[in-house]
Amino acid sequence: MTVDINKDKNIFIVRLGETVLKGKNKSYFEKKIVERIKRLVKRLGDVSVVRKEGLIFVYSDKDIKEDEILKEMGKVFGIASISQAVELDSHVEDIYEEAVKYMLDLMDKKEVKTFKVEVKRADKSFPIKSPQMAKNVGAAVLKGCKVLKVDVNNPDVKLFVNIRQDKTYIYQDKVDGFGGLPLGTNGKGMVLLSGGIDSPVAAFMMAKRGMAIEAIHFHSYPYTSQRAQEKVEALAGRLAVYCSRFNLHVVNLLPVQEEIVRKCPEEQTTILVRRFMMKIAEAVAKENAATMLITGESLGQVASQTSDSIVCTDNAVEIPVMRPLIALDKVDIIEKAKEIETFDISILPFEDCCTVFLPKRPVTRPKLKDILASESKLDVDTLVKNAIDNIEVLTIYPEI
Ligand code: ATP
Ligand code: MG
Repeated sequence: MTVDINKDKNIFIVRLGETVLKGKNKSYFEKKIVERIKRLVKRLGDVSVVRKEGLIFVYSDKDIKEDEILKEMGKVFGIASISQAVELDSHVEDIYEEAVKYMLDLMDKKEVKTFKVEVKRADKSFPIKSPQMAKNVGAAVLKGCKVLKVDVNNPDVKLFVNIRQDKTYIYQDKVDGFGGLPLGTNGKGMVLLSGGIDSPVAAFMMAKRGMAIEAIHFHSYPYTSQRAQEKVEALAGRLAVYCSRFNLHVVNLLPVQEEIVRKCPEEQTTILVRRFMMKIAEAVAKENAATMLITGESLGQVASQTSDSIVCTDNAVEIPVMRPLIALDKVDIIEKAKEIETFDISILPFEDCCTVFLPKRPVTRPKLKDILASESKLDVDTLVKNAIDNIEVLTIYPEI
């Protein structure tokens, strides 16, 4: 009997995260992940993606680099982990033979002294139980690779043998995915995207839970520069790598800011400006079928993010505001920003519209009634409407 290995293909086993808990909707979630993988790997060449027995299997041509496939799949929300595997028919003798060959190949590539075998028997009709099969595979490897020893506690290589219905998969390591839920399975949010470190991370975190995103950015041109806007577009391009193509709504906030500066107490400027940002974002969200706003606020990070300030900002809108970073420390946000590769763009030194007309001593404990009293001196509806009438909409494509 010859071993039926798919010699022309690299094979990847994709394990799903929380999607496996989704009961009746499981198939819908799995399909979404398959679609997303297919879209991302399409440009690489001939790759097929199939759902089978609660896993996803990806078969790619040998001339496509494994790393390229792993990199694309690493962008897909809902994936818990990925292993590159060898696939063969589930015949006992073939499994022993292939396990030996697998280890010999591995020993050509790196130094291996010890190993351990772990067998999982998803197919209960397979004649040998997992613990016995692990012993048998171990014995075959010891015989075939004379220098190797078994170490069950701290092996150089863990050799996994996953026996499924008609095929068996042999692999060693796993690459972690982001987890989460597949993109576009949980509504749409409008993220208030500044050029800072926090808001791209906030957008990423919501998208990871399945939320499609669109973004809105406020500038104060000519006080803020064209380069500041380019920076935001670059950040959006990074986000689109994970979140797919989306629209970025760009708003000039200067007329609103000037009106606030003219008519309201200086120390309240920031809070009042933030309330307008929320109101404008809410209107744009409603026009674009987004049901929530997303911000990068983190409790106590700056004067406008104290609990009293957040009460005042939150009160400006009716739709829910998601603040996924609210309880994270800056160091943790920075770590996440580095991981998703937005950090280096975020720290480019261009001014944000919030720094224009920054009060010398902003209130840290604003009272909502005082803020509302100041706001009542402004023609809120007209200011919001004018801002929206002058919006520029950019389509953001994933940065390659
Ligand atoms: P970030 O690092 O995201 O800029 P920050 O610490 O600078 O946040 P703030 O300037 O108070 O904090 O902004 C809080 C949140 O308000 C941001 O995370 C973002 O969601 C939103 N925001 C601030 N400035 C802008 C802007 N110019 N355009 C769009 N949203 C903004
Ligand atoms: Mg900011």
